[in-house]
Amino acid sequence: MSRAIALRSGGSMPVLGLGTWEMGERATRRAGEIAALRLAVELGMVMIDTAEMYGEGGAEEVVGEAVAGSRDKVFLVSKVYPHNATRRGVVAACKRSLKRLGTDYLDLYLLHWRGSVPLAQTVAGFEELRSGGQIRAWGVSNFDSSDVEELLTTPGGKHCAANQILYHLASRGVEWDLLPLCRRHRIAVMAYSPLGRGRLLRHRQLKDLAQRVGATPAQLALAWLLARPGVASIPKAADSAHVRECAASQELVLSGPVMAELEQGYPPPSGPTPLEII
Ligand code: NAP
Repeated sequence: MSRAIALRSGGSMPVLGLGTWEMGERATRRAGEIAALRLAVELGMVMIDTAEMYGEGGAEEVVGEAVAGSRDKVFLVSKVYPHNATRRGVVAACKRSLKRLGTDYLDLYLLHWRGSVPLAQTVAGFEELRSGGQIRAWGVSNFDSSDVEELLTTPGGKHCAANQILYHLASRGVEWDLLPLCRRHRIAVMAYSPLGRGRLLRHRQLKDLAQRVGATPAQLALAWLLARPGVASIPKAADSAHVRECAASQELVLSGPVMAELEQGYPPPSGPTPLEII
C-alpha cells in the first residue's frame, strides 16, 4: 500500500508518482511511455502528473491510454495554462483535458504558474469544477511565499490543496519559508524535477554515497524527499529500468548517518531564497 498525504480538501494524495513532461511529443516513443506509466502504477507509483502544456495535449492523451481500464487505481493530476485560467477558461480547459485523459474527473487540478489573470477568477473556476465533481481538489504550481499568502486572502483560496514546486537535494531554498508556510496551512507540497532533471544523479558525492548504501543516486534523492512530511514527489522516467529504480525508493529507509552526510553535502538554505522555477 502506497503512503499518502491527507489533503485539507478531503481525501489523500500518494507520496510518489510519475511525471510526464516531454511525453506525448513523438509517435515513436508512445508505446514506451505508455508501458512506463503502466509499470509505475503497478509498482505503487499511483500518482500521475501531467498538464495541458505537455506535448500540447499529447501527454494527456498518452496518460489516457495508459490508465484506460485502471482509472480508479490512479491519482490523476493535470494543470491549466495561466492564459486559460479565467473563470470560464479554466472550466473549458478542464473539459478538454478530461476528454484527452478519457475520464470524467481529475483528482487534482493545478494552475501551472501565475499569469496575469486575477487569482479570484481562477479560484472561482476551480470551485465551480469542484462542486460539479469534475475535480476533487485544486491547487497551484510555482507559487512562492508571497503568492501563497495572497491566495490565502482570496475568496475560496483557503481550499488550495497543493503547491507543486521545484525541490530536490541540490535546490533546498524552499525550506526557508515556503515549505513551513505550506505546512502551516496544510497545503501539500509536490516536489517537481526531484532528480534535478537527471543532472543531480551525476554528482560524484551522491554517486559515492549511493554505492556505499547499496542504492542508486536516484533512489537516494527520492528517499530523501520521501522522508519529508507533507512532501510528495513526481520523478519523470520513460525508461522502464528507471521506473523500477524510482519505485524501489519507497522501500529505502535512510539511516541517521546517511541523512547527516546528505545534510552536509547538500546544506539547507541559510536565508530567504527566491523560488527557483523551470
Ligand atoms: P526529473 O524527474 O528530475 O528528471 C527526469 C530525468 O531523469 C529524465 O531524463 C529521466 O530519464 C531521468 N531518470 C529518471 N529516473 C532515473 C533513474 N532512476 N536513473 C537515471 N535517470 C533517471 O525531471 P522533470 O521531468 O523536470 O520533473 C519531473 C516531473 O515534474 C515532470 O515530468 C513534470 O510532470 C513535473 N514538472 C512540473 C513543473 C511545473 O512547472 N509544475 C516543472 C517541471 C517538471 P528517462 O525519461 O529517459 O527515463
